[in-house]
Amino acid sequence: MDIKAIDIGKYKGIVFFTGAGMSAESGVPTYRGQGGIWHEYNWQEYACQEAWKTNPEKVFDFHDLRREEALKCFPHKGHEIITDVQDSHPNVTVVTQNIDGMHQRAGTENVIELHGSIWRVRCEREGWVKEDLAEGSFENRKCDCGAWLRPDIIWFSDMLNQEVLKQADETISNCELFISIGTSGVVWPAAGYPQLAKSSGALCIEVNPEPGEQSYIYDSVYRGNAGDVLPRMFNM
Ligand code: NAD
Repeated sequence: MDIKAIDIGKYKGIVFFTGAGMSAESGVPTYRGQGGIWHEYNWQEYACQEAWKTNPEKVFDFHDLRREEALKCFPHKGHEIITDVQDSHPNVTVVTQNIDGMHQRAGTENVIELHGSIWRVRCEREGWVKEDLAEGSFENRKCDCGAWLRPDIIWFSDMLNQEVLKQADETISNCELFISIGTSGVVWPAAGYPQLAKSSGALCIEVNPEPGEQSYIYDSVYRGNAGDVLPRMFNM
């Protein structure tokens, strides 16, 4: 595969837009692909507001397991390259659909998490959100006020956080280089971001071993794994 090295100095704003494939390379299971979580679990019982209201202990057990599994996996070379690019350029943002915190574990800052994070909880009664970075299981399942806490994740049928969406929209509309990695482009509204970047005049690049519904939008497409392709895209 012929990969042209990118001169990052040419672009004022750079966005890395990542999906489950980025973490799959580290060993974090996808939802629907081979070995996907929803083949083993029924999401209606584990990943929606109704499930949490019906049986919060069961939903917490499931998410404790997700945290434990994520900690058994480690960032790969592709995650490290994104951190290196960020260290060498003043305006780099990661917009991710992933909830596993793998970018942050690779040292990347400025990560917009569209679908929340398994490393945060919120109290819906008191309205606060906070990090819970305990190794493995959540530190607390209940708030001091007595209410159940809730993993700060976008579950099925949840509205996305409007502030987070606004931030993502603004960042993508203003970027000059948009690199999508490991997303099939079928989950909305994230699936609209490649087109938003393209219409805003950004150079758009896709890194994915498989073609997807959005692939036609990109100026360049690299069919390979993130950990192999990203190091070859940047001279660092
Ligand atoms: P997806 O599962 O629909 O698609 C994954 C994509 O990654 C596929 O196109 C696949 O070809 C590609 N891929 C696989 N291995 C790759 C590699 N090594 N390098 C580059 N690409 C690779 O993922 P999605 O588009 O992110 O949508 C799934 C939804 O599920 C998202 O909303 C996400 O929040 C959620 N999810 C998150 C996690 C996580 O946090 N790790 C895991 C599973 C699902």
